[in-house]
Amino acid sequence: MRSHARAVVIGGGVVGVSVLYHLAKIGWTDVVLLEKNELTSGSTWHAAGGVTTLNSDANVSKLQKYTFDLYRELEQVTGQSCGIHHNGGIYLAASDGQMDFLKLIHSRARTLGMDTEMISVADAKARNVLIDERHFTGALWREDGGYVDPWLVTQAYVTAARRLGAEVQRFTKVEALVQRPDRTWDVVTDKGTINAEHVVNAGGLWAREVGRLVGLELPVLAMEHIYVVTEPVPALKGLPREIINTSDFTGEIYLRQEGEGVLLGTYEQACKVWAPKVTPDDFHGRLLPDDLERIAPELERGFRHFPALAEVGIKKVVNGPFTFSPDGNPLVGPVEGLPGFWCACAVMAGFSQGGGIGLVLSRWMAEGDPGQDVLAMDVTRYGHFATPRYTAIKVQENYRRRFRLTYPNEEMPAARPLRRSPVYGALDAAGAVWGNNFGLESPLWFAPEGVAKAETPTYRRSEAFGPVGDECRAVRSAVGLTEITNYGKYEVTGRGARAFLDRVFACRIPRPGRMALAPMLSPRGRIIGDLTIACLAEDRYLIVGSGFAERFHMRWFADRNPPGDVFVRAASSSYAGFALSGPKARDVLGALADFDVSAEGFRLFGVREAPVGLSPAIIQRCGFTGELGYEIWVTPDYLPQLYDDLTAAGRDFGLRLYGGRAVSSLRLEKNYGSFNKDFRPDYTAAETGLDAFVDFAKTVDFTGRAAVLAERETGPKRRFVTFKVDAPHADVVGYEVVLKDGKPVGHVTSGGWGHAVGCSLAMGYVPTALARDGETFAIDILGVECPAVITARPLYDPEGARLRS
Ligand SMILES: Cc1cc2nc3c(=O)[nH]c(=O)nc-3n(C[C@H](O)[C@H](O)[C@H](O)COP(=O)(O)OP(=O)(O)OC[C@H]3O[C@@H](n4cnc5c(N)ncnc54)[C@H](O)[C@@H]3O)c2cc1C
Repeated sequence: MRSHARAVVIGGGVVGVSVLYHLAKIGWTDVVLLEKNELTSGSTWHAAGGVTTLNSDANVSKLQKYTFDLYRELEQVTGQSCGIHHNGGIYLAASDGQMDFLKLIHSRARTLGMDTEMISVADAKARNVLIDERHFTGALWREDGGYVDPWLVTQAYVTAARRLGAEVQRFTKVEALVQRPDRTWDVVTDKGTINAEHVVNAGGLWAREVGRLVGLELPVLAMEHIYVVTEPVPALKGLPREIINTSDFTGEIYLRQEGEGVLLGTYEQACKVWAPKVTPDDFHGRLLPDDLERIAPELERGFRHFPALAEVGIKKVVNGPFTFSPDGNPLVGPVEGLPGFWCACAVMAGFSQGGGIGLVLSRWMAEGDPGQDVLAMDVTRYGHFATPRYTAIKVQENYRRRFRLTYPNEEMPAARPLRRSPVYGALDAAGAVWGNNFGLESPLWFAPEGVAKAETPTYRRSEAFGPVGDECRAVRSAVGLTEITNYGKYEVTGRGARAFLDRVFACRIPRPGRMALAPMLSPRGRIIGDLTIACLAEDRYLIVGSGFAERFHMRWFADRNPPGDVFVRAASSSYAGFALSGPKARDVLGALADFDVSAEGFRLFGVREAPVGLSPAIIQRCGFTGELGYEIWVTPDYLPQLYDDLTAAGRDFGLRLYGGRAVSSLRLEKNYGSFNKDFRPDYTAAETGLDAFVDFAKTVDFTGRAAVLAERETGPKRRFVTFKVDAPHADVVGYEVVLKDGKPVGHVTSGGWGHAVGCSLAMGYVPTALARDGETFAIDILGVECPAVITARPLYDPEGARLRS
């Protein structure tokens, strides 16, 4: 056995072999895959092999499209078949909500350059004769996808990887992982030890156990999953081609042709966790006992929706386990504190996603950057809140809802409320309708007396429209108060803090008593974060950003190697706070503060440490609504007192509570983009407009400097813009296509209704040549091509006078 490798991939399922192939392809030929049994013997061998290119996250869709196209490439490279059946797919809808979802997906597919079409049920039946048309109202057809042979695909990856010099060692179990002081890993196996710079956990069914070898408890869990294969179906005999792969949301059924019969699977409501604590080491090439009782309700529905199946027998039942993360997306990427340890786990659709995961992970390992936005799959999206019990609850919720749509205004209820701020009870009593961010409850909107604290899930405007509008108008006309405990917070302290931040951020680092808008760039000049830095003292900084990105940003800070005199600490649970916003905000703060809050005494982007009412606080003069505003931070034990003081002082000024939905609307009216929605690692500083906050004059070689300087010379290819949209029926959700003269030219990143300006707004990217004030477009919103016009200046307070007042 060899004693050294640049990288060791643990696991010979479809994901591990893809990672191996892509590492070899990128030029890392000194790589070895270790498989403790036979290749495919975990989840891979018994998969149905279905491949789809559509996903609720557009970036994951791109990787799925890449995966499907890769199979042809592998066939060409190796001369080996992958068993590709390129028969496309249809999604059957049976309700208005499902139709809206399909129209949204169709609009997004146009953005991604994928071939899809809304079709009638009769057209769907022409592609799958088994459909009983009476149960459906419409369908979406996609050209890409079909199904492949799991064993052949795995072999093709391995053959291609070996030809490039990679090695595969079967029947070799990784038993321990020991990191040396030089950060390399000793991969201890039952056949000897390999020292490697990098280790990839592609352990599939055993990913949890491989994580435990390095002290990680990954949020991953296996579920049992059943599909059946029928006897030959007479209706399929003699057809010129196979029926199309079919997904039936209402039936919670997927099916495809298998020989002359049909393979039918379901995500049953009576779902079952498999191996909740430890995966048996010897579970190789094995299946679980048939359990048709468990899927009986779904089977009955399937037989109603596809009646010919009720007339034939079941030839084979496959019940096998495969793994999920709490939201069903994979866990990919490096782990903070474990340099050289990489995850490629919780892949519940290995045949749709495995190729894309191999691609981004290999780039990430070799080039330090995944090459595209992978936030939706990033292992850092789970924090400490994702305990094994949380994972078990959420994974089951996700499994049961696999065929149930999650609407943009819908919040998943399981394992909630989990993290609660000290004012949760008070805000709940005030009518808060809750959303969830990184496990923490935060108010979306407030239901006034007599209004139910609930919303109908929809792609259109909901019951919250009226109350959210009232909240927005209160902020614009008087003053509003919203809890911001859900923001991500970091403390950077120590003698070297300023120099460190100067290297990590692209902006000028503020002087004591000031704060700055702070873009953080990747070496390629892409947006890694859009944060604020407040300088409390030369050696003490409070950084605020998106709550969901806490682990993501902590990993980023750690990767920038803070020197010994710099301490970086995640402070999200150490600070809680409120934003006070509106023309009367100063009056409310003035009633509670003993320092000079006048426009001259406390200027925009000033920061103070001073009591507010009875609470010691940090006060920042900033906000996300475009109004005069303050963000007030206290330690969580003071939050109820701060709340009492602010609401009491605000009573005379018409203070009203507002939630995240109102913030989203208010910021749209000011053309403010938001990290995660509008600003993501796919976009550059100049594309987003965040280059306005880059300190081009600073001599420090900050991360992304060369890229941002180069882009200043060439100019960006596309630009972030705000559109006023004529959309009477609905607002955009995200990733809808932007059309010019009927042709896709851009895409939407976010949007909604502007309550103060009285129109629908959308944000997104278009080519620079078209990014002009007044330029007209159409945006496909739920199947309607809505006129949209760029409004380069904010529709609300274009001069920014209110913010500075
Ligand atoms: C019934 C069923 C139907 C499915 N249908 C589809 C479908 O239609 N389309 C689709 O895309 N997906 C489908 N899937 C899911 C698919 O099977 C998985 O997404 C995929 O197999 C995951 O591959 P993997 O490489 O991550 O894991 P695995 O296949 O489990 O591979 C992990 C490998 O790691 C090895 N290993 C683990 N620990 C060690 C160690 N310590 N040392 C050495 N080796 C180790 C294991 O032996 C194993 O071979 C289905 C799953 C089931 C159960």
